[in-house]
Amino acid sequence: MSRVYNFSAGPSAFPESVLKQAKDDMLEWRESGMSVMEMSHRGKFFSTIAEELESDLRELLAIPANYKVMFLQGGASAQFSFIPQNILNGKTKACYVNTGAWSEKAIQDAKAYCEVVVSASSEASKFTQIPSLANWNIDSDAAYLHYTSNETIHGVEFQSIPDAKGLTLVSDMSSNILSRNLDVSQFGLIYAGTQKNMGPAGVTVVIVRDDLIGHAAKGVPPVFDYAQQVKNGSMLNTPATYNWYLVGLVLKWLKAQGGVAAIEQHNIKKAAKLYDVFDQSSLYSNPVEKSVRSRMNVPFILSDEALDKPFLAAAEGQGLMELKGHRSVGGMRASIYNAMPESGIDTLCEFIKEFERTH
Ligand SMILES: *Cc1c(COP(=O)(O)O)cnc(C)c1O
Repeated sequence: MSRVYNFSAGPSAFPESVLKQAKDDMLEWRESGMSVMEMSHRGKFFSTIAEELESDLRELLAIPANYKVMFLQGGASAQFSFIPQNILNGKTKACYVNTGAWSEKAIQDAKAYCEVVVSASSEASKFTQIPSLANWNIDSDAAYLHYTSNETIHGVEFQSIPDAKGLTLVSDMSSNILSRNLDVSQFGLIYAGTQKNMGPAGVTVVIVRDDLIGHAAKGVPPVFDYAQQVKNGSMLNTPATYNWYLVGLVLKWLKAQGGVAAIEQHNIKKAAKLYDVFDQSSLYSNPVEKSVRSRMNVPFILSDEALDKPFLAAAEGQGLMELKGHRSVGGMRASIYNAMPESGIDTLCEFIKEFERTH
């Protein structure tokens, strides 16, 4: 067996030690006599897994006591609809910042429930920038301001928390949660699918401030009513038990790495190595404005499109997988989440330079 370096945007690479732990636990978890997959979600063994999952996440992100944490299904995409349905609370407008493909989807879905005020957009720059905060149109009658902290497809990342001018701040952090320090208290609600930086697909983490819970619109399905899920510990229905366990293992791995502050330093170093190679090259370029480049998703283009296919084929030949860019933007993309080791970055950088030398 030889494992590759997997640069997939999601589902994405796991820490190898987590996979080994899952293998060791497969037939029997901690002297329970059974696999996690076989456990009742209401039994004592799984209760331990659920409790550790939440407490480890709370510890890693220093989540204040007045926030609830849910582990739901339906992906971040379901939250595009369930956020307005849960937190509009009688208001008819919500503000959205449009910085790329995922913002656009969130905006599109919210329109079914409210009037969307697009506070700012970087569409004119083909989503290679973040609109300057000075010009944002924030409507004080809106229920909240939504933004995507890291645009997974366009490779644009907010480097600080925007000022919501008094509105409740909501953020889709699917592709950069746990990759950098975060002051949760600045937000009303944070959500993230787990398949980028926290584990396998199938779980969506929602962190929500107490006062936003309990205002679901009429007709919201009970499993997507925050109040009901909070009251039931995200077990109103059977949760994705094995996925919760895997996310829990990833969180324990992250704690062992020194937590979020330590992994952030590691991520800064990894991303800088890769961007440096592009900046010094005449074959490759990264289209994003330097100050907002993502540390997680690094898109790059080859100046000669005819080289795309040979590039990908040669990369795969060396065990460097999933470097093809998203179909909507083309080019290449290397997703380098927490679990991508520095050796993967080094191998990729060497390959990229060598390909330029020989082409
Ligand atoms: C992947 C992704 C999503 C969609 O996640 P699903 O789990 O497929 O619904 C939403 N937002 C961002 C920023 C993403 O990276």
